[in-house]
Amino acid sequence: MAFEGLSDRLQEVFKKLRGKGKISEEDVKLAMREVRLALLEADVNYKVTKSFVAAVSERAVGQEVLQSVTPGQQVVKIVYDEMTQLMGGSETKLTMSSKPPTVFMTVGLQGAGKTTTAAKLSRNLLKQGRRPLLVAADVYRPAAIKQLQVLGEQVGVPVFSMGQSNPVDIARASLEYARSNNRDIVIIDTAGRLHVNEELMAELLQIQKTVNPHETLLVVDAMTGQDAVNVAEAFNDQLSITGVILTKLDGDTRGGAALSVKAVTGCPIKLVGMGEKMDALETFYPERMASRILGMGDILSLVEKAQENFDEQKAREMEQKIRKQEFTLEDFLEQMQQVKSMGPLQDLLGMIPGMDKQLKGIEGQIDEKEILHVEAIIRSMTPEERRNPAILNGSRKKRIARGSGAKVQEVNRLVKQFEESRKVMKQFADMGGKKGKRGAFP
Ligand code: GDP
Repeated sequence: MAFEGLSDRLQEVFKKLRGKGKISEEDVKLAMREVRLALLEADVNYKVTKSFVAAVSERAVGQEVLQSVTPGQQVVKIVYDEMTQLMGGSETKLTMSSKPPTVFMTVGLQGAGKTTTAAKLSRNLLKQGRRPLLVAADVYRPAAIKQLQVLGEQVGVPVFSMGQSNPVDIARASLEYARSNNRDIVIIDTAGRLHVNEELMAELLQIQKTVNPHETLLVVDAMTGQDAVNVAEAFNDQLSITGVILTKLDGDTRGGAALSVKAVTGCPIKLVGMGEKMDALETFYPERMASRILGMGDILSLVEKAQENFDEQKAREMEQKIRKQEFTLEDFLEQMQQVKSMGPLQDLLGMIPGMDKQLKGIEGQIDEKEILHVEAIIRSMTPEERRNPAILNGSRKKRIARGSGAKVQEVNRLVKQFEESRKVMKQFADMGGKKGKRGAFP
């Protein structure tokens, strides 16, 4: 999981602080020394770390903090505020032109995820009711045009291409095409190189001058840490980028890039790539990111994800069933599939405050393979058995085990788990009812 090391280290530091009723200036100093080390180890830029720690220290040793009733909490709050500021304060929207077409240009080094990101972005815009056009202007990397065409088809966005022609000509022609074909956003996927070099910059500058984009979006790979920040600096010097898209944040990245990019370049991170799939491009929320890094969870993102994936009507029906104790194994399976469609469970649980820590202990239980296994067992049951597991006798269980490649004990365990979760759900639903609110599911 991203930022795991940093998150662990910081939480250790704060646990010590929180445990104290009173803290001294010396305690703060000690804690800040550890924060500094944790940040450097997470590959955060040296200067950024230094000024961050200085800013936190200055605020934390103030009398109102040290003499407050909850000094430890106050220090954590200061770190949270400063970290949010460091990453840009609040989210930054993409600029849309009032006179279509709006033009975006994605730039970056090879392998950063530019082509994938261009397609993901077009998908998100399409979902928002826009009419995007993808433009294949990466004419050097073998198969880049084909890659964009395949992704475009996958997300249902047309791709403008002119084969290996001059990229500047392609970009110019794509705008005309967009105007005459009623496309309101043009996303130009430009060529990358292995390293920043003059030839690349000259070409990108020329395209930029020709199409005058509303956004020049630099795509960088979060996994490359400080290198990503250096690349951002170099691109920004030449091209005045308007925003950064940080990819591969779903990976095991240490956090250096996310925490340093804004401070070093002055350019905000606008979007983040959270996976290889086309739906894995999200708005970057500095406050939520800070909250995740500090182990305070990311409930807002979780709720949004849930809203995107859950069907309100279905949720209400489900709640009714739970309340009336009519919740069946079939519903259980459906819920599991909905949760699965929200993405890897590890990521979801990481968004819940306090869960990050507990996760390690229950890793075995949230194995995605296990879900498939459970799914197979439920699918081997007859509709009647799914509705009423009480009828499952020995021979039925044997049949189900055989059908799903499981052991009879596993079938037993599943039925038991289901009965227990049905009980818990009922309690939750009742609690929600008493407070006059909707139940807890989902
Ligand atoms: P380009 O050379 O910059 O156009 O890079 P590509 O778009 O071809 O991406 C390079 C690789 O990174 C591909 O395998 C992508 O699937 C992968 N990739 C891109 N974005 C993400 C992301 O957010 N998360 C993960 N895990 N992989 C990504």
